[in-house]
This record gives sequence, C-alpha cells and structure tokens, in this order.
Amino acid sequence: MPRFASGREAALELRPDHPVYCFRPSVLAADARAFLDAFPGRTAYAVKTNDEPMVLETLARAGITAFDVASPHEFAAVRAVAPEAELLYMHPVKAQADIRLALEHYRIRATALDHEDEVAKIVRIVRALDLDPEDLTLFVRIASKGEAAYELSKKFGAAPGHAAELLQRIDGLGIRCGICFHVGSQVEDAATYERAVATAAEVRDAARVPISALDVGGGFPAAYAADPRRPQPPMPPLADIIARLMGAVERGGFAGTPLVAEPGRVIVARAFSVIARVLLKKGQRLYINDGIWASLSDSWTGKIVLPVRHIPDPARRRRAGRADKIEPFRIYGATCDSVDVLSRPFFLPESVDTGDWIEIGHIGAYSLSLRTRFNGFYPDTFVEVDTPFEAGPAPEGFAEPERRMGVAPEGG
Ligand SMILES: *Cc1c(COP(=O)(O)O)cnc(C)c1O
Repeated sequence: MPRFASGREAALELRPDHPVYCFRPSVLAADARAFLDAFPGRTAYAVKTNDEPMVLETLARAGITAFDVASPHEFAAVRAVAPEAELLYMHPVKAQADIRLALEHYRIRATALDHEDEVAKIVRIVRALDLDPEDLTLFVRIASKGEAAYELSKKFGAAPGHAAELLQRIDGLGIRCGICFHVGSQVEDAATYERAVATAAEVRDAARVPISALDVGGGFPAAYAADPRRPQPPMPPLADIIARLMGAVERGGFAGTPLVAEPGRVIVARAFSVIARVLLKKGQRLYINDGIWASLSDSWTGKIVLPVRHIPDPARRRRAGRADKIEPFRIYGATCDSVDVLSRPFFLPESVDTGDWIEIGHIGAYSLSLRTRFNGFYPDTFVEVDTPFEAGPAPEGFAEPERRMGVAPEGG
C-alpha cells in the first residue's frame, strides 16, 4: 500500500479522480489499546463496524483477542487473520444453518438471543452435534432505552420479565447464562449504560440463576468534529463513561461477574478518512465522487459532525471566493440517484472549486462496510497515512450536525 505522511500529501501526489481511503494503522492500534486499557473486562471488537482485513489484522496485532461477529462472512474474515481469536456470535436472530456452522465448524461457544424459539434452534444443533451444554454460554439480550444517536432497542431485546424466564429456561438446559444489552451507537450519556446495567441486575434477581457473564455491548462514542458556530458541551472522555458504567456494575452486584464489551465505532472511527474530488461546483452545490451509496451513508443521518479538510488543486490558478470564509455547500453524491445527497451541508471555504479535493475525516466506522456497487461506483483504493487526521492545521470544514433536541431541523 502506498504510504504518505498526510491525506493532503496523498491527494497532491496521486491527484486521484476516484475516492481514496487513507488508512491510519497507528491511530487504529492506539485507539484499540486505549479501549483495552480503559475497560476492565474482555473486549470483543464489533466486526460489522469495519471488516476490512487490514483493520482486523491491525487489531489482532494491537492485542484484541475477541471479536463480536454476526454472520458466516464475519466468522471467516476474523479467522483468516486471527486464527486463535475468540468469536462471540452476538446476533440475536440467526439462520439455523449459520448456528450449525458457528458451533460445528468455527467452534463458537457464545451467542445471544431474545426469544425462546431461538433457544430451541440452538438446542436442536447442540443435541445433533452432541455438544456439552456446559461449554456453551447463551446471552439473553435485554431491551434498553437510552439516548443514542442510533437507537437499536426497538429491534432486539426481551422485556425484563421475559428475559428472566429465558434465563431460567437456559439454566434448566444445563447451559451457562449470560446477560447482554446494546444501548445503540454513539452514546454520549453514561446514564444510558447505568440504566441498562440496573435492568440487567433486576433481570438477574428475578431469574435467580447463576450469571456467568455480563456483556455491556457497544455504543461507546467516537471523537468527531464540533460545530464552531454552535458550541456544545464537550463529549465525555471514554474513561469517564467507563467509570460510570463500572459504578453501575458495582451497585448492581456484578462486581464478581466477568464482563464483555463490544466496541466498534470508538475503536475504528479515527482510523480512516476519505479523499473525495469535487467533480463540479454549481453555486452552493458540490458534486463529489463519493456519496451515501459509497462511504457517506453513516453521515447521511446527519447525527454526527464529520471534520472536513479542503485540499485546493494547485493547478487551478484563478479562484472566486475567499479561502478564509466558510460557507455551507450542499453535497451531491456520485450516483444518478436523486436521494444521493447528504442531508446536511458541509461547511467549506468559499473558494472550494471543481477539481479540488476534500478529505473527510473519522469515517472508519460504518462507511467502508456500508458501501454499495450502486451505479457501478465502488471506492476501493487505499493508501496508508502516518499521521492522525487532526494533525497539522485545523480542518477548515465540517459536516453540519442535526439540530439538537427542542429545535426543529432545517429540513433536507
Ligand atoms: C453494532 C453493534 C456493536 C457495535 O456498536 P458501536 O456503536 O459501533 O460500538 C456492538 N454490539 C452489537 C450487538 C451491535 O449490534
């Protein structure tokens, strides 16, 4: 992989007409180690966040030994780079064939569920393979309510009474019981974790069965940009969120219970940026060679503020507009689809023009893994970059965030 000191250097040297991902292995390793140091339990990286082999490999080298996987593709992707790694199959609703593959071929011994019919599916395979139920841990996923940028409890999770019944059923089968939750993604309010742990304690007390692990899921917030026009309280540091979580673990009587976390975004967001080219400027509109069907679907929701850097093409001699005046530009994506437009503008220097590049930072989570081949566009060029995106001069631009609660959004 070609290597550069910065995204700017890569753009100016390669002059790419197609999106180029800047991978920062040193940043990825540092963020992985920061989580490992901060969390006093087992850290299982959530593979769906970014399943590129270069990511999984770097994480394994940085000391990540467990991975949260959800599909046969993810089992194989992890095993290909980390044959010894432990796989936790934390998808609560699985195909029978995939359960079999997990237990038989991949020797996975931990999975999640939120319904008795899923217990029945798993037990059928355990019996067919003649496995010792004691070797298996079934995590009952409990529903949780919270303040996440991306709320997930609407889809999965058993209500407390139901969860307690499921635990009793699992215990009755001689299988080890775990409790898990996943409060959503980009959770900046630690109270969300505290409430979920309190619910887990309630469920454990109602079930009155031994709990061999508590899995607190993912959701830990990654660093993004701030909107300079609208100062907001800074995001709490990871250590503070984990300290609050551990306080709740203690109060909930889980101090002696082995813990698992499934971080995704917080580990991988900073590890990638993408260099996109401005294909055309039409007034306050920029048509770029990336978009919501490629790297930018996560930001399409408008819930995170991505940092953006303007990389002017030095070959363009004459420019209208000032470099020090920041203006909102509507961003249109590469495909012909009329929905391929970002829901919030990017604020960029007024002087940005056709042929320039913009480097969009902190896109490591839920961008590469969500790319499609729609319209035949599929960014897949990578370079390695040595310095963090935020090194060097401050980014000139940012993607506008959603208006906070209580204030109506301006609309698409
Ligand atoms: C997506 C997911 C994660 C990772 O979430 P992040 O917000 O990226 O940390 C962890 N656990 C489960 C069950 C998930 O679905």
